[in-house]
Parts: sequence; structure tokens; C-alpha cells
Amino acid sequence: MARIVMKFGGTSVGNTDRIKNVARRVKAEVDAGNEVAVVVSAMSGTTNQLVTWTNEIARLHDAREYDVVVASGEQVTVGLLALALQDIGVNARSWLGWQIPFRTDGIHGKARIGEIDTTVMRERFAPTGDRGGQVAVVAGFQGIGPDNRITTLGRGGSDTSAVALAAALDADRCDIYTDVDGVYTTDPRITAKARKIDRITYEEMLELASQGAKVLQTRSVAMAMQHGVRVQVLSSFEDKPGTLVVDEGEIVEQQVVTGIAYSPDEAKVTLVGVPDRPGVAGAIFGSLADSAVNVDMIVQNVSQDGKSTDLTFTVGATDLDRAHQVLDGLKGELGFTDIVSDPGVCKISVVGVGMRSQPGVAKTMFQTLAEKGINIQVISTSEIKVSVLISADYTELAVRALHTAYGLDAEGDG
Ligand code: ASP
Ligand code: MG
Repeated sequence: MARIVMKFGGTSVGNTDRIKNVARRVKAEVDAGNEVAVVVSAMSGTTNQLVTWTNEIARLHDAREYDVVVASGEQVTVGLLALALQDIGVNARSWLGWQIPFRTDGIHGKARIGEIDTTVMRERFAPTGDRGGQVAVVAGFQGIGPDNRITTLGRGGSDTSAVALAAALDADRCDIYTDVDGVYTTDPRITAKARKIDRITYEEMLELASQGAKVLQTRSVAMAMQHGVRVQVLSSFEDKPGTLVVDEGEIVEQQVVTGIAYSPDEAKVTLVGVPDRPGVAGAIFGSLADSAVNVDMIVQNVSQDGKSTDLTFTVGATDLDRAHQVLDGLKGELGFTDIVSDPGVCKISVVGVGMRSQPGVAKTMFQTLAEKGINIQVISTSEIKVSVLISADYTELAVRALHTAYGLDAEGDG
């Protein structure tokens, strides 16, 4: 017997037939003698619609009411799944975030999970008593803040709900069921030669997720790593093993580059003629941070004349307007001459723990892009990642060429 958390994404619960399919999968785990908690997302498209409605009412809205609205999608799917389970003879009940409770901080719209009280859930897992052997059907994406109001965890947050619940329950596994059958070496929509990865380390998955791979919410991977939760990503439509996200020690054969991610949602900002004196970078990035603009890649040239230099960095495309607003306000005070921005850029990242011990990974990247005539605008690196910023027009070409260059192409097809 094992204790497992199963998580189903929006596509997997996208209509009532699919919810019945999920119920059958849950029943199979129960019949195998396991204790099961299921975390579900809203039906696909629902959360987008709810977000649109809040924006239609007011662009600048009260984040607490936003959470009340957008958390509602999961209320529908937990109820329906509990019904579907009962209908096929499985003892099940739904749980909303506040009922468990899933305690979070008070950052509405992007709350972080604190404590989860699983006492009652554990009691009901036990096979004895009139409520025994019960499956917990848990609403993902939501919790309750210190102000006693509903919070949500940020888009894609039900992955994090599932991993957090698995940690709190000391679950043996956290299975994330989705519409793809695992984590791929790159987006299969870009190249048919992308391969499914059998095992990937937490660190690599964290980098891939934060660099644009959409399969798991970044925060869920960080949490799995922190608590050592064994995560499996697998298809809810096919019966086959998915990708296991595990400790480095569990990886037998190590590639230098494990995967390639791309993030088109970037914008490049260049400040021209920035005075070369202490405190300027602190003022610029301090002000951006205060306005919740996330800055990613940063390059600053050495000034030629000792007086001024150019400063280039990237922000999320949706933050570009806000960044402009902040920077306009600083222009007079700091004395730079111009702000130039370009939303038409894409960040390409190659990731692999193997690059710690293998030199030449960056060189291969630069040469491969050069052979395709692709200009590199900004470069950044970490221990297990090299990222470049290029024109978004060359995204597909770059990803395909790099996938081949690092020996990731699947054999046979393509
Ligand atoms: N329904 C929420 C969203 O679309 C949470 C999730 O699906 O993970 O962001
Ligand atoms: Mg998701």
C-alpha cells in the first residue's frame, strides 16, 4: 500500500466525460489498495475566462475579489469529480482550500503556501470507521490567507497545491497527470525530434520550468526539491510511464544537455548613456523591483570614457509598460539619455547538470547559432544553464539547430 497524490490539469477535467475518465483512474489506484488524494484544476479555459471577466470589470481591481472569482473554477471540478467517484462506488468527498485548510500568506493572486493541516484527511484515509477509506478530492490553486479570505497561488498553481499536499501527507508519490505524456527535451510542437525524458533532476526541471517549459509550475518544482517529493509527469489519456523528477543520484546516464527551453514572453530594454558612478544600477533595479517588475538578464558595458555606458536588461513582456513608466520617472534624476525597448525577442536556454563537469557547452551554442546566421543579443549563464537572447523570428530555427547540435534528436523519425 502506498499513499499517493494524483493531480489532474484542466484538459484532463475539460468535460464530464473526461472527469469520468479521471474517476476511473483514481478508482484503479484505490482498488490497488492505495490511499489517495486527488488535486484538480479548473476545466480548461475556465480560469482564463474568469480572469478576463475581472479585467473587463476593472483593469486595476481588488486582488482579494479577483481571488474570489478565479478560485471558483476549481470548486466546480472538485464537486463533479467527487460525484463521479461516488457514482462508481468510491467513497470520496471534495475539499476547498479553506476547508482543509491550506494556509497561505496574504499575497493575493500569487500567494505562497504555509501550513496544510492534514489530520482529518489522514483519519479518513484509514480503512476503518464509517468514513474510512475515503478519497480526498482537493481544489488546487487556492488557499486561505491570514485575513481569512480566499487566496490563489498564481497561474498553474494547482501543480504546487499537489506537491505541497504530497509533502504534508508524506506521500510516496505525486503523479501529475496532464495532456502530454511527460517532459520532453524540447517543445514537440517545434521539433518532431523532441524525445521524452525518462528521468530528470529537480535542478534541471527547475531551470527548464523557469526558462519557459510550461509542463510544471516553477514553484511546484522548487517545493518538490525542497521536500524530496517524487514527482511523476504523465498522460491522463494514455497508459504509459511518464517522466520522473528525482534527485541527481537517481540518474544513471547523464547527458551534458538535458533539455532546451524557450521563452518568447520577454522584452529587451536598453538605457543609453547611463552615468558611470556608484549607486546608479542600485537606483534603477531598486525602483523596478519596488514596482514588482522582474528583471532577468542584465548586461552592462565598461564605459569607454569613464563617464557613461549602456545598460541592457530583459523584463517580462507584460511588464514592459510598467518598466517604461518607472524608467521615465528616473531619467531626469539619473541623467541617462534614452530608453530603447524591443518586445520582439526570445530567450533560448540549454540546461543540463552535466555541464558542470563538461566544458564547451556555451561554445557549441554560440557556434551553432552563428552557423545559422542568428545574432546573439544578450548572454547569461548559471552553473547548469546557458541562455541567449535572440530575435523572436529565429526561435524555431534556433531550437531545432541546438537540439541537433547537442545530440538530443530522437532516432529514426523527423
Ligand atoms: N486553474 C488554474 C490556472 O489555470 C490553476 C491550474 O490550472 O493549475 O491557472
Ligand atoms: Mg497546468
